[in-house]
Amino acid sequence: MDFPALFTFSQSSLQDYADCARRFQLRYLERLTWPAIETEPTLENERRQKAGQFFHRMAQQALVGIPLDKLDGLAGSPELAKWWQNFSAEYPNITRAAKLYPELTLSAPLGGHRLTAKFDLVAVSEGKAVIYDWKTYHHRPRNETLSIRWQTRAYRWLLAEAGKHLNDGKNFAPEDIEMVYWFAEFPDQPARFAYNAGQFERDQAGLEKIIEEIGAARDYPKVDEGQTGRTCRFCAYRSYCARGDLAGDWREAEFADDALPEILLDQVAEIEL
Ligand code: SF4
Repeated sequence: MDFPALFTFSQSSLQDYADCARRFQLRYLERLTWPAIETEPTLENERRQKAGQFFHRMAQQALVGIPLDKLDGLAGSPELAKWWQNFSAEYPNITRAAKLYPELTLSAPLGGHRLTAKFDLVAVSEGKAVIYDWKTYHHRPRNETLSIRWQTRAYRWLLAEAGKHLNDGKNFAPEDIEMVYWFAEFPDQPARFAYNAGQFERDQAGLEKIIEEIGAARDYPKVDEGQTGRTCRFCAYRSYCARGDLAGDWREAEFADDALPEILLDQVAEIEL
């Protein structure tokens, strides 16, 4: 299969390729839809992913000006209610910045293709920008793990590269950018990542390298499962790959709420007030 002449990469597609080239192929080139669900753990996993997406919609609605208490009633499960309560408590701190850009999309040409990102929130004050990303993970990942995720690298790079319209026409200096993962389950343990010029250059080189590698690929091998089988256990394409019938338990998945493919996000219910 020839790779498209102009492909729009996202942090998810880059991470999928890094995790398993075959998954990248199935999801983004063949655009195979979510395979049939057969097992109860998978249903529970999907339910939780949808709750996570609904939480994101509620946060976005608050950030465009709908009073928090008007949204309270939408938290229709104990899990969502807890996340929402935690978010509401943090809301004054998050919204202290002069300018807020919720659900912001930025994109830039890179390596002959494009890189795009949708930010949950960019908060700007006096030339400094904070990227917020809400996470509804069951586990709080280690900072070392988050720091090498493609999301952490791509989001900060993109804001420095393509965010000047948020800063009176001047690019943000990398040193004026911070990324914060805020965990709805662990509201007192955000993960904060500063940025600097050296990281910006390394990220650009790394992004160009992986984009070039994907563009030149002629086959997309399955991940080497090693001893644990962990990558496939939490992958929706197990049946396509003959890598097992049973889903892993969502409580063990490290990045469970990142697993809902972008091509399915449109199917997440809209909020009706
Ligand atoms: S089941 Fe395993 S090999 Fe197949 S796409 Fe998923 S991670 Fe890759």
